[in-house]
Amino acid sequence: MMAALLIRRDKKSTAAHLKADLNRTDNSSGVRQLQELLDCVLNPEKTAADTEALDWCKCLIAGGEGFEEFCKTFRSYDNATLCGLVWTANFVAYRCRTCGISPCMSLCAECFNNGDHTGHDFNMFRSQAGGACDCGDSNVMRETGFCRRHRLRTGENVPSVPRDLLLMPEMVLPRFIICIIQYLRDGYTEPDTSTERDLQKVLQQLEPQISFLEELTKMGGAMRTVLTKILTNQQTFKDLSMGQEENVYAKKNYENYLSALKNSGLVSVEEKAQTGAAEPTQGAETGALVLQGAAAPASPDESNKEEDQDGEQSIGQRKRVKLSSTTKDPSIMDSLKHKCFLEELLFWTIKYEFPQKMVTFLLNMLPDQDYKITFTKTFVQHYAFIMKTLMKSHESDTMSNRIVHISVQLFSNEDLARHVTEECQLLDIMVTVLLYMMESCLIKSELQDEENSRHVVVNCSEALLKNNTYWPLVSDFINILSHQSVAKKFLEDHSLLMLWMSFVSFFQGMNLNKRELSEHVEFESQTYYAAFAAELEACAQPMWGLLTHCKVKETQEYTKTVVRYCLETLQIWFDAIGFVDELAPNQVTFHLPLHRYYAMFLSKAVKCQGLDLESLLPDQEMLMRIMVHPLQIQASLSEIHSNMWVRNGLQIKGQAMTYVQSHFCNSMIDPDIFLLQVCASRLDPDYFISSVFERFKVVDLLTMASVHQNTVLDGEQERPMLEGALTFLVILSSLRIHLGMSDDEILRAEMVSQLCMNDRTHSSLLDLIPENPNPKSGIVPGSCSFEEMLSAVADFKAPVFELGGSMQQGMYTPKAEVWEKEFDPIMVILRTVYRRDVQSAMDRYSAFLKQSGMHTTGNPWPPYKERTPLHLCYKGLDRLLHCKTLHIVIFTLLYKIWLDHSNMSEHVLCMVLYLIELGLDNQVQEDKEDEEPCIEEHCHDSWFPGTNLLSNLHHVINYVRVRVPETAPEVKREREPPASTSAEASNFGQNSRRLTGNWRENVREAQVFSLVAERRRKFQEIINRSSTEASQVVRPKSSSTRWVPPGTPPQLVTEILEIHESMLSLLIKLHQKLSAKQNSLSATWLEDMDANPNRHVHGDGITAIERILTKAARRSHQSKRSIQEICGKVFPPVAPKKNSPTAKKTMDKEERRQRARERQQKLLAEFASRQKSFMETAMDVESPDAEAAMDLGASEVKESEVLYDCVICGQSGPSTEDRPTGLVVLLQASSVLGHRCKSDEAKKLPTTDEERIYPADTCGAAHDVRLALMQSFFKDSSCLQSVSIGWDGGVYVQTCGHTLHIDCHKSYMESLRNDQVMQGFSVDKGEFTCPLCRQFANSVLPCRPGRSTEVVSWHMPSNKNTSVLVKEVEDLQEQLGLFPTESNLSKEMELVIKDIKNTTQRKYMDYGKNPGSPDNDFLFMYSVARTNLELELVHRGGNLCSGGASGAAKRSCLNQLFHVLAMHMRLYSIDSAYNPWTRLTQVAPSRDDCLDDERPEVPMLFRDCPSLLIIFVLTMPQPLCKEHFICLVKMLYNLQYTQALAALSAKFSPEERQAWSTSGALKKNAFNAEKSYEALLSHVITELSKVKTVYDVNTEEPSMLSTSVWSPQSIEYSLQQFCLPYLRLSCLLQHHLYGDNLSGCPEEEEFSGLAGCLGLLAPAPQPSNPMYSASCLDWTVSAFNLMTQWCSEVTGLSDTHAEKSMTLLVQDLQWASPHLLHLPDNYNTIFQYYHKKACTACKKVPKDPALCLVCGTFVCLKGLCCKQQGICECVWHSQHCGAATGIFLLINASVIIIIRGHRFCLWGSVYLDAHGEEDRDLRRGKPLFLCVERYKVLEQQWVSHTFDHINKRWGPHYNGL
Ligand SMILES: [Zn+2]
Ligand SMILES: [Zn+2]
Ligand SMILES: [Zn+2]
Ligand SMILES: [Zn+2]
Ligand SMILES: [Zn+2]
Ligand SMILES: [Zn+2]
Ligand SMILES: [Zn+2]
Ligand SMILES: [Zn+2]
Repeated sequence: MMAALLIRRDKKSTAAHLKADLNRTDNSSGVRQLQELLDCVLNPEKTAADTEALDWCKCLIAGGEGFEEFCKTFRSYDNATLCGLVWTANFVAYRCRTCGISPCMSLCAECFNNGDHTGHDFNMFRSQAGGACDCGDSNVMRETGFCRRHRLRTGENVPSVPRDLLLMPEMVLPRFIICIIQYLRDGYTEPDTSTERDLQKVLQQLEPQISFLEELTKMGGAMRTVLTKILTNQQTFKDLSMGQEENVYAKKNYENYLSALKNSGLVSVEEKAQTGAAEPTQGAETGALVLQGAAAPASPDESNKEEDQDGEQSIGQRKRVKLSSTTKDPSIMDSLKHKCFLEELLFWTIKYEFPQKMVTFLLNMLPDQDYKITFTKTFVQHYAFIMKTLMKSHESDTMSNRIVHISVQLFSNEDLARHVTEECQLLDIMVTVLLYMMESCLIKSELQDEENSRHVVVNCSEALLKNNTYWPLVSDFINILSHQSVAKKFLEDHSLLMLWMSFVSFFQGMNLNKRELSEHVEFESQTYYAAFAAELEACAQPMWGLLTHCKVKETQEYTKTVVRYCLETLQIWFDAIGFVDELAPNQVTFHLPLHRYYAMFLSKAVKCQGLDLESLLPDQEMLMRIMVHPLQIQASLSEIHSNMWVRNGLQIKGQAMTYVQSHFCNSMIDPDIFLLQVCASRLDPDYFISSVFERFKVVDLLTMASVHQNTVLDGEQERPMLEGALTFLVILSSLRIHLGMSDDEILRAEMVSQLCMNDRTHSSLLDLIPENPNPKSGIVPGSCSFEEMLSAVADFKAPVFELGGSMQQGMYTPKAEVWEKEFDPIMVILRTVYRRDVQSAMDRYSAFLKQSGMHTTGNPWPPYKERTPLHLCYKGLDRLLHCKTLHIVIFTLLYKIWLDHSNMSEHVLCMVLYLIELGLDNQVQEDKEDEEPCIEEHCHDSWFPGTNLLSNLHHVINYVRVRVPETAPEVKREREPPASTSAEASNFGQNSRRLTGNWRENVREAQVFSLVAERRRKFQEIINRSSTEASQVVRPKSSSTRWVPPGTPPQLVTEILEIHESMLSLLIKLHQKLSAKQNSLSATWLEDMDANPNRHVHGDGITAIERILTKAARRSHQSKRSIQEICGKVFPPVAPKKNSPTAKKTMDKEERRQRARERQQKLLAEFASRQKSFMETAMDVESPDAEAAMDLGASEVKESEVLYDCVICGQSGPSTEDRPTGLVVLLQASSVLGHRCKSDEAKKLPTTDEERIYPADTCGAAHDVRLALMQSFFKDSSCLQSVSIGWDGGVYVQTCGHTLHIDCHKSYMESLRNDQVMQGFSVDKGEFTCPLCRQFANSVLPCRPGRSTEVVSWHMPSNKNTSVLVKEVEDLQEQLGLFPTESNLSKEMELVIKDIKNTTQRKYMDYGKNPGSPDNDFLFMYSVARTNLELELVHRGGNLCSGGASGAAKRSCLNQLFHVLAMHMRLYSIDSAYNPWTRLTQVAPSRDDCLDDERPEVPMLFRDCPSLLIIFVLTMPQPLCKEHFICLVKMLYNLQYTQALAALSAKFSPEERQAWSTSGALKKNAFNAEKSYEALLSHVITELSKVKTVYDVNTEEPSMLSTSVWSPQSIEYSLQQFCLPYLRLSCLLQHHLYGDNLSGCPEEEEFSGLAGCLGLLAPAPQPSNPMYSASCLDWTVSAFNLMTQWCSEVTGLSDTHAEKSMTLLVQDLQWASPHLLHLPDNYNTIFQYYHKKACTACKKVPKDPALCLVCGTFVCLKGLCCKQQGICECVWHSQHCGAATGIFLLINASVIIIIRGHRFCLWGSVYLDAHGEEDRDLRRGKPLFLCVERYKVLEQQWVSHTFDHINKRWGPHYNGL
């Protein structure tokens, strides 16, 4: 066969040959050959893993060319104008709200950076589900935002692809694709078959093929067109999909496909048959939902059975309900039919649950417009099937993301969305599928009538809701509704609306709460999360979507329709739950989406569309029903806060909080309040008010009697419930959010209330302001943007850094005028989740008033705020404030407060006053001054003549009849009640039920009015009735319909109270009471008031009453007269306060608080004084001479002993050998010194591949090199005495200054070990916190028993000759180490030495050639001293110019540390033969024995003088006399100076060297030549020049470097600089050993200052001679001889050694202060480079990349890839870079973590956004900029080693970072 032949031939030539054949006019043979070849190559019976087929295809497509070549050619014809880059999860993309048309738009980083978005509202984000770049698509974004490349539309000028290139792909690809499809068909098995199902395996094998397809899409527009043609061609599909007749395999394969296709319908065949039989009528009649028990039709479908079982397990007894409704459109649910490859490919993509590769391929094709349209249609066609698969999927999360990844790309485009809506019924499909989904988890509603309810709701404990599985569908739905054209279609389609309403009703009343009355719930269900999520996402979001399209008059009809369907559905709901007029008790649901739909469309209609409210409202009866459930929620909120729901657990509080949460409020509480306001404005106000008090269960409380009974509330619940009811009424009558405020006003009010509660960061404020209906991004034209509004109401407080370590963020705080004029306590109450937030707002308010002097005495009351006028439609709301019922309540409460009845609080009075004032400010229009007659006949209230508050205010109530228990104080007043009354009362009481019933029957009025009247009556009967005349009381009529609550105890008696008060008189009396003054208001008071109207805005209750009285007087003459009259009367003294239990209570509380405060203050004071004394002790320790030396004679020895306080036992005493005391210290290893550089400028963090950091120039590296170099030439033991280590990994010792007995410390540690609560430190490692100051510590440094006599002797002035001293020093050094006697103290000293060694790693201690040798130990020990001295220098700023008063010195423990080290060092003695002291002070004959050694000793000129000094001090007997110390310093200075000369001479050019040598030689014989730098310099040059190699080595370099000529001044400067480090260290050492004060000096005089301090220079240096560096020299032998000897040590070395000697001679001893890396200003620079940078160790891009801020190393945080020896890379690096301290920037989070040993903590971020805020995890994605101050603080904490003390939240990292 031909194919068999071809296949054996070379692929390339075959392809070329075939292509040539096909290009002929008669290409039939070519076609045949190709087909045969493909039949053979693309045999689906072969395993897909065989890549031979793929190779063939590539070759054939390329047609003989190389494939890469072919791709390149093809790409040159790319005509795409869209970017279309597809990405998957975790990709970093951008979103620009300014440029986006669709909110879903996104841009790839490249397109974003190449576009102009300056000043736009954009953010960076990490993609959750994946996405694609929209650049170039003008349907999704504005063209101005396109990047340069896609703006130019380069594609239009690209020539089209030549036919020739297209030929092979067009022939080959169809076969390739069908082959893939056949593999997919073959590999698929249904989930329910018993065979093992491994779809992943199939996909894995197919990966190269699908990747190839993806590769093709990247070849640009031309190839995509080819692919589109193939994928959408129906003929090709027909020809190929079934395979040839004779092919058995193909047949079976096709059948496989058909059966899979059959299973794809939403309704299984069986199911369909059943529903068809049971319910023949089809239609969208949602009202007739017929319920079936779950037991009913058992579906034979396997998967269904499974589901049912699941369901039963999860919901327990509650049975799932199945709807037999036939809301499904068969065309949507029916099985699928495919007509092209694309359709079948998508089908399999779904079946295989959206494999990533496939999704990417399908999305990569999207830039092709034809493809996009066809694909969108195909997607819609499969939509129902997709969702069905999703519901069954076990990995619904991944699948959801992938689905949305696709659908967002399709539905964000309005044209496309409209197109598929019109042609493919997208809306019908979506709504139907949503219904289908929710129908799978319905249960019977238990709301109201549990037995007979026909309502069904979703079960919130089902997986579908708990896991939010429905979200992709809902999100698609919201997305398409954002397009106006689509939304219009939806709103015009009534049957769709009906369907939608029935969908919404599934959520109405879900997650019902029943109040537990007896026992606490066993199990707190968390279903409420699911419930709130479902309502907000599935109901509220689509609602807001629809509402945005109902904004103008033209859309009135839409609103009307929605409102109509809402009401209809509500009616159906009321019927279904069996609601008539009474609510079932103790139930509440927070979910009333139908109510809220109705409310929000109503609001929009009135506010934006100019519709008349009346036309949209139902009848009164319906309104009364509508108000019941929202009102119940308000009452329940109050109940929950009053702890009436405690038995339901914490979750009920969670629900209440979520409900009022400002983030959701616009979809929850706000619509409810609005709806109640609408009801209140239309219903009878008396009815409404009484309903409120009844719902809040406080009716019983509203009696004027001193005692009352309450059958529903416990005593302690009454007050909070009353407060709740009153607060609710205030909110209801004052809130204007939907009643007339403009969007700007709303935004402003929201902002102000949030800011008043607390200062807010920009982002938290943005979060707290509800998005709907007011979009925050400010793109709505004409409306005020968030930013503008913010700057109008708030001041920005830049982030400040508190030195305590807590970092603040940029905050916004209300402007002063906002506090003064706009603070609205009511809004704050409405928006607070926690009560403490209200308190916080009030505290801030009073602080403002105090500060501004507006109110300084006592606590101010919440200010009254005038309201925006009501929209005309809602005017009726004001009647609430003008109804008798409310006035009765107000009067009663005022009366009770005046009489100090229990349960009356300040809050109650405040709310009552608020209501009065609201009433005064909001008059009902038709009201007149004149008394209006009582119109309503059946109203038996005789309290007030009319409804106007203004006139009722001054109406005097004379008598009130109350019913009280016989024991009440009223009864004892011996005033006989009229006999008839009580008799009647009992009489009527018995008949009340019957009477009520009769009454209801007899009245012919509509039921509505019966409801109104009955409630009103009930209300007024329960509370009291008043009579204007006493005689009225006996009128039978007045008590004819008395209502007695069932179960009322019979001993109640009716009493008549004599009142004779009006509201005004009560107010005036309260004024007196509050001000505790008799006649607090004079008769002429009102006149004074008029003069100053502004004085009443802010103040307390007195001010509020005055304000109300003034308002009343101003508005009514009668009131004015009344007020004047009352004020003029002389009142009896105010009732004595003692009798009042409330007052007593508050007084007690206040007193208790006061006492507690005093106690606390006393405690604090005690503690402070204790602390102070400790601090003083600590100071004594380190400078014992200060006081002791002053006035202590030598005789008084005993008393001068240093005393220490133990912070554990509190005793004070000396530290003794027996019972030593110790300092609390923290030992830590540090590499801060090692990271110092030469340059004072910090190294720059690399942000491109070109930049790098070279670590070689650091102090640590330089010292390592020097030591290694020495060790290669000289004797090891000598080398180890010639340098210091500890630059890297040195041990730093810190103390808080507190001391304790070491035995006390031991028992303290024991107690910590037994303490179960660990505070982040590990006791086993010796860690603890200082018992006094809580500072972190890990060891105790024993204090040397000290006596001040010794101190004195140290300072004995002496005039000994230097030579004598030199000899004395030598003798002292010869003295054998005196071992201290074994004592507790010496043991402790050894222990702390062990601690010090354990602090750092082995590698930082072993530098010698013989690990563990005493030489090593010796080096390590004196280096500890060096490290601590050097670090102190760093902390002092690198020099000693600032003097000795530095705070760091006070907390220093160097003195104690030195003693411990010295004691330990005495264990070693230096072999006198090698004692450097000899070589330093004597001219010795050259020794011959050194020749015996293999290696010479280190020449003196190479040795480090500070190290030598420390060695000498530590190895000599302690204490060391100061004169000996000075002697050491002087002798070493000679050496140091000579080293300086040698180093200097090396820097000269040969000519200069010659010149200086000659000129200096002349001065050698002059007077004082030994102190002349010229003579000495000349001598050194001469000596060193004796061997040519010394200077020859560097001949080239220095001449190049030294461009300027050396002058005497520059030489002096250079010498001083060289010697300064030595002087600084000596001086510091002297300061610590002898307590000498460091005197400050200007920086340029540091040298002379230090020299003077050390006694090297006469106290007053001669100003004439500034060359004092040489005058500090003090030679005991001939300087020239000594120098000759030192130089000969160098020149005596062999030639090879001499070459290196210059390197060792020319050392630079100056190091700049340590710095962290210099960071770029913009975080994006770091992020863009590092978030995709590969780790150098594992070569992969880390999931969590991190960056060391000390050295710039890039590491894989937490990555297993770079884990070594069980330690992750970050921890590993911290050990090597910082000796267990690491500072890392987490690239993906923008935060810094600190690693300290085995612990770590989150430090915070040094990058802040424009509002001074951190953006942890880059959630907001706003541009971030370096906060220099914060970074300085970080650096400071690093340098000062205070991470442990300042950062509080440490945790163990278990080496896992
Ligand atoms: Zn792009
Ligand atoms: Zn672009
Ligand atoms: Zn933009
Ligand atoms: Zn103690
Ligand atoms: Zn302390
Ligand atoms: Zn590092
Ligand atoms: Zn790594
Ligand atoms: Zn790695």
